[in-house]
Amino acid sequence: MIPRFLRLLSVALVISVLVPPAGWPAAEGQEIISVSKSDVDPARLARQGLDLLMEKDGRIYIVAGPDDMAGLAARGIAYAIEPDRALAGARQVLSAAGGINGAFHSTLELETDLRTLERDFPGLARVVEIGESLEDRKIWALKISDNASMDEGEPAVLFLGCHHAREWISVEVPLLFGKYLLENYSLSQGVRDLVDSSEIWIVPIVNPDGLEYSIHVYRYWRKNRRANADGTYGVDINRNYGYRWGFDNIGSSGTPGSEVYRGTGLFSEPETAAVRDLFTGHDFRAAISFHSYSQTILYPWGYTTDPAPDDAGLGAIAATMSGLMAAVNGTVYAAGQASRALYTTNGDTVDWTYGLRAAPSFTIELPPVDIDGGGFFNDEAAIGAIFGENLPAMLYLARYAVDHPLPERRRVPLRPAGGRDRLGDGVKFVLLKAPIRFR
Ligand SMILES: [Zn+2]
Repeated sequence: MIPRFLRLLSVALVISVLVPPAGWPAAEGQEIISVSKSDVDPARLARQGLDLLMEKDGRIYIVAGPDDMAGLAARGIAYAIEPDRALAGARQVLSAAGGINGAFHSTLELETDLRTLERDFPGLARVVEIGESLEDRKIWALKISDNASMDEGEPAVLFLGCHHAREWISVEVPLLFGKYLLENYSLSQGVRDLVDSSEIWIVPIVNPDGLEYSIHVYRYWRKNRRANADGTYGVDINRNYGYRWGFDNIGSSGTPGSEVYRGTGLFSEPETAAVRDLFTGHDFRAAISFHSYSQTILYPWGYTTDPAPDDAGLGAIAATMSGLMAAVNGTVYAAGQASRALYTTNGDTVDWTYGLRAAPSFTIELPPVDIDGGGFFNDEAAIGAIFGENLPAMLYLARYAVDHPLPERRRVPLRPAGGRDRLGDGVKFVLLKAPIRFR
């Protein structure tokens, strides 16, 4: 429902205010190359304006033009030109006509689209600022309900995207869900009944600073942009929530430079505090937090391999969602307890939403299944299909939440801010046998 000219205008505005980083590779003669991680310092390469794509098997992948390659050669750094195979999605994004990030949303593009939805669907859609990031970007929520501007105390369902900066597809799926509900409200009795009896809250970009950094500086960035005391940057905001925060040093790390650094205290980061305040301020009965990649539906607990109290119920909902999703495009999403199906995490979003209220809560790791399918780099042409297969799962969980009041509110005491790790400070981060690519 967003007029095409407005969309193009917003893209043009964005392009005009973005200054591409120095050394942004020219399209002419551009190649995807790789260098051995042992030969280079990735941070230094990024500072020099090289377009780092990702790390895989000890190699750093870079989008490089002739000058970049000549620069590496001049410094005696060996590089290999890579075939397209696993990187087709990344190339697609770079060659797209929608600016640096193609059809994927930046924070400004998101705000523009949310405002347009609010304007086109007055009464049903409201744009709400739920917080501000460390770099003063607004964290936007879209609230969808009948009488959206009023607090009617209806059952609420939460859809979150982009805790992790490089997982761009996780912005698009919840945003498209909001568009779908609004555009189909007058067409579908089922959508109308759902929206009339609930509040659907959508936060497509929880981590705007990280996302912008991923778009403009380092595509592979994961965390937020906290300046840590030791000079490193970033807290993994999906390890900063308050349920069993810092439970051990496997599911999160106390080392600031780690990709899974949990922060100095639970909810120490404004991004997680914003989600906390939203969640505790309404009658949330279910939540989905979108990530990528793995093509898997995960449910609590993440912090332990012990089953959650409602393990069977959570597993049944996940299995139903997986079946609904497979029926759309034939894409099969595995389902399982998070700690068993992927790896253990502590301080993640859905352990907290479930631990606090026993609200059925799921992390959906979007496609692809693995790195050979493109890893974090989804082809923009696949956005629609990925949304389409997730749609029935989102509708199902929202309907389920409205129809199933929570039997009890399990209030679990939160660990105090600044509380010490259970294993004590200074315990070395334990590497599991296989290197983990965190998602
Ligand atoms: Zn993630």
